[in-house]
Amino acid sequence: MSIDSSWILKKASEVLAETPLCDRCLGRLFARLGHGLSNKDRGASIKLLLAMELHRLAREGPLPDALLKTLAPRLGDPGARVYRLVKGEDPPEAPVCRVCGGVLDSFIERAAERGLKLLRAFDVKRFVVGVKMSGNAAEVEEDVKRRHGLVYGESIRSELRREIGKLIQKLDPSLKADFEDPEATLLVHYPTGELELQVNSLLLAGRYWKRGRLISQAYWPTVGGPKYFSVEEASWGILKLTGGERVVVHAAGREDVDARMLGTGRPLILEVKTPRRRQVPLEELERAANSGGKGVVEFRFDGTARRRDIRLYKEEVAEKKKAYKALIVVEKKITDADMEALENEFRGRLILQRTPRRVLHRRPDIVRRRRVHAVKCRQYGGGVLECLIVAEGGLYVKELVSGDDGRTTPSFAEVLGARAECVELDVISVEGVKLFGSGPSAPHGSR
Ligand SMILES: [Zn+2]
Repeated sequence: MSIDSSWILKKASEVLAETPLCDRCLGRLFARLGHGLSNKDRGASIKLLLAMELHRLAREGPLPDALLKTLAPRLGDPGARVYRLVKGEDPPEAPVCRVCGGVLDSFIERAAERGLKLLRAFDVKRFVVGVKMSGNAAEVEEDVKRRHGLVYGESIRSELRREIGKLIQKLDPSLKADFEDPEATLLVHYPTGELELQVNSLLLAGRYWKRGRLISQAYWPTVGGPKYFSVEEASWGILKLTGGERVVVHAAGREDVDARMLGTGRPLILEVKTPRRRQVPLEELERAANSGGKGVVEFRFDGTARRRDIRLYKEEVAEKKKAYKALIVVEKKITDADMEALENEFRGRLILQRTPRRVLHRRPDIVRRRRVHAVKCRQYGGGVLECLIVAEGGLYVKELVSGDDGRTTPSFAEVLGARAECVELDVISVEGVKLFGSGPSAPHGSR
């Protein structure tokens, strides 16, 4: 096989004779041929070769005037020079590109310059570009490709996305296109040039501690102000630092409002919506989040998380093993045999638990099966017990103690044969998952 005719040149001359195109729009029709080239270079090269071909044809025989008149002006400067040489006069004025109107280069430049300003205003370093097309440019282009059987092209949309992204990185090398985990999407409207920035939340993975009681996890507004101080409200200092609009707490399960969260703390992802400042050292973010904790709520961050990690935290981590310390009052005198019975009955014991009556208004009435791994008790006399309970996540501990009128079985009350009530509850350990190199999976010491 030898090259004695060119498919590319044949196709290009047919297309141009019919549809005037700028270098970029012509080159894009052959975008998947050659590597490491811009479409502009492709288009300019093809036009240069076509101008040379016209010159050859003119030298070797009479060149049809119509072909010279139509094609030469559409080949840019090389075409115009051949025309002048052959005809001894200036060529007719070149018609504008039928796909982009000849504005694609300046469109890309302007979009990149203005897009960069927008990305900087929101302190974004990792971005992607999206392009929203209106008008008929894409249709005209598709129509040309279809009619001429051009199978190696790419779309104007994909070229715009790539070229605007590339130019932004060239204008400011500290910005990086990141398709995996972008901090924002720069949406460019073509051909209006309108820009939108969709800023992704800043997601911080770590743990929280609740060293007091009557603190809710989520902000709980009522007409007279928030019902309780909350883990969410405690973190609001981070909004001041980042200029975020609001925070959302995504935690691996939750303890009751009146239960403390001690020991290992509970895994959480703190979501800061629409931050304007995000390239902030973790320690500074942690300090800001802790500034509003009033000494009772504390945060520790291990790193940033991705959106998909939130589900992992809410579902998988929430199911993991938890340890509780419960202060229990029993309506009878406790004997050593009672404590032994509790420890024996609840060693690796499967519990059937219908949704507790106190949460029925917001949870479906179902039967959960959760395992209690171990119970260890100590008594203080007068029917007061302190128990360490290790159980699968999702078990309601207060009802494990009381039995909730037979809705939880077996229960401490059932085993003891007397009414029992959990009067104080602390969560002291929550297992986590490893998200980072030095992840939050291992229990941390106190800080
Ligand atoms: Zn064009």
